[in-house]
Amino acid sequence: MSENEKTHRVVIVGSGFGGLFAAKALKSADVDVTMISRTTHHLFQPLLYQVATGILSEGEIAPSTREVLKRQKNVRVTLGDVTGVDLEARTVTSQALGSSTVTPYDSLIVAAGAQTSYFGHEEWAPRAPGLKSIDDALEVRARIFGAFEMAEIETDPEIRSEWLTFVVVGAGPTGVEMAGQIAEAARNTLRDNFRSIDPAEARILLLDAADAVLGSFGDRLSAKATTVLRKLGVEVELGAKVTGVDLTGVDIVGADGESRRIGARTKIWAAGVRASRLGRHLSEQVGLEVDRAGRVPVQDDLTLPGHPEVFVVGDMATLKGYPGVSQFAMQGARYAAKTITTRLAGKPAPAAFSYWDKGSMATVSRFNAVASIGNRRFAGFIAWLLWLGVHLVYLIGFKNRITTLINWAVTFVGNDRSERVISHHQVVGRVVVSRQGMTPLGMPPTDPDE
Ligand SMILES: Cc1cc2nc3c(=O)[nH]c(=O)nc-3n(C[C@H](O)[C@H](O)[C@H](O)COP(=O)(O)OP(=O)(O)OC[C@H]3O[C@@H](n4cnc5c(N)ncnc54)[C@H](O)[C@@H]3O)c2cc1C
Repeated sequence: MSENEKTHRVVIVGSGFGGLFAAKALKSADVDVTMISRTTHHLFQPLLYQVATGILSEGEIAPSTREVLKRQKNVRVTLGDVTGVDLEARTVTSQALGSSTVTPYDSLIVAAGAQTSYFGHEEWAPRAPGLKSIDDALEVRARIFGAFEMAEIETDPEIRSEWLTFVVVGAGPTGVEMAGQIAEAARNTLRDNFRSIDPAEARILLLDAADAVLGSFGDRLSAKATTVLRKLGVEVELGAKVTGVDLTGVDIVGADGESRRIGARTKIWAAGVRASRLGRHLSEQVGLEVDRAGRVPVQDDLTLPGHPEVFVVGDMATLKGYPGVSQFAMQGARYAAKTITTRLAGKPAPAAFSYWDKGSMATVSRFNAVASIGNRRFAGFIAWLLWLGVHLVYLIGFKNRITTLINWAVTFVGNDRSERVISHHQVVGRVVVSRQGMTPLGMPPTDPDE
């Protein structure tokens, strides 16, 4: 057996918070790490809404994984969509551009995350994109800024009003941040940009079937966030269940039980996620049932029963009701790496995984956020400063921190947004905006019903 074959092989699936932090935690270990991910970048999802609303560029929140790990010589980064894991053979199968690769492992860390869930209405996806990837963020950005362009050239007042109506479904942190930022863009950034319309007249609706905005933050912060949103002109409608989404609007059943239609060309879905399908694939092999969100009920050392060499971390895993947030993924990833190195050193396994809740926060508007840390609650400017600090610390890469700070200054102090490009290929409602100008196509090519 050659020296190389003796080295313990760790395969990591995913380059998100779980995948990247697992690889980093194995930096000094005597292991060969192969990271397989379907994206070539790490993605800082908490700031996706800022790409979607023109504040940051995609590169600032999505650095190349290869670049981030270039000095870590025990890691090999490979592009691939993992389609199967054979727990008995201890291999991972991935596909990239039609070619299939089988990668053997001694230890496996699966961190393939989650995707947008439409609760059984996948047909709504093209009409109301979610916010889970860079592609989503750029699509949403094109739709938001494209909607104002369409309103400017539309002569029919009813259609114009549909272009100037934005519906955000889901009043969790992402929905609140999106609604707040669309309102700020309409009222501040786009002021004086148009001649036929006043962007400040745009309607922004935030809908949720639940009875509170940011419900997980508790009553006080929820009430504060609702007040700030309403001051910004966001129409918050709670207890509203979406029953249909089409090209020109959404159908809802309101809190009063009455069905209603809201004419809106731009819809954004921030209402739910479900774990990667790899969760079910792994669970079936060990006789487990995934939960309603498709997550794997892992053991308290984050492994699969009967497979101490297989760890599932982050949004794909469920354990003791821990939240599906970046800290759960990062801490789980570090725990898995530590368990692997401890075992290799022949030492006793670490104690069961336990999650350290460092708190949660969400921005509501410029200089205004809410934060819940331990049993302390913060709202307003102080919470916003906390939010600023935390995001700068966790953002990957020194250069990104600098450029992000500059862009934040431009937006939060100067009201400008430098990232408003709509590319040649992007679909904006019923038009494609080309480099030559608007090309009305009649219907969006991505809509399966049209
Ligand atoms: C809009 C938004 C805002 C958020 N805001 C916050 C916040 O403010 N604070 C917070 O703590 N959390 C926040 N979260 C949640 C946080 O981002 C997630 O909990 C975290 O990303 C989970 O990490 P993960 O590694 O499990 O998954 P991800 O970070 O999603 O990474 C999954 C990785 O797996 C790859 N992958 C997926 N499927 C495959 C496959 N089949 N083959 C190969 N690779 C695959 C993906 O390309 C990706 O690299 C937010 C999430 C979103 C979407």
